[in-house]
Amino acid sequence: MPVKNPSKSKSAPKQASTTPQINPKYAFFKMKIAPSEIHRWGLYALEDIPAKKKVMEYTGERCNRKETKIRGDAELNYMFTLNSYWTLDGSVGGSGAEYINHCCDPNLYAWVFKEHILYMTKRPIVKGEELTIDYHFAKDVDKVICSCGAKTCRGTINLLK
Ligand SMILES: [Zn+2]
Repeated sequence: MPVKNPSKSKSAPKQASTTPQINPKYAFFKMKIAPSEIHRWGLYALEDIPAKKKVMEYTGERCNRKETKIRGDAELNYMFTLNSYWTLDGSVGGSGAEYINHCCDPNLYAWVFKEHILYMTKRPIVKGEELTIDYHFAKDVDKVICSCGAKTCRGTINLLK
């Protein structure tokens, strides 16, 4: 999910045939992946979704701390921290949740339950809306500029404190 340098890869690839797909096994509502104004690809609701519902599970290859460090240095990566030791790499076996973009005023939040990362709705979502989540990048790592467009945008994907 995180992106080190969004400015270098702003537009989605041209060919429709390369559109990433959602694994229906981990999706609990109708959604699709399509080009996003925020960054490359995004996930969109194809139906109204009530608040506090499980929308999707974030899946990926399990990586230990050493492997996470190596893969995390890539310019574009999809690492999601599960706990102090394990990280999931959504680029390998990802459900599609790895394409959910960051927003400072998101409509989803992540709930880690029994070593599963579940994306839940924070508020009701209407059909056609892009699904977003706050990546909560640490304040002491490389700053990533945010262009989410939210009124409350903090300017970086990193937390300020
Ligand atoms: Zn923002």
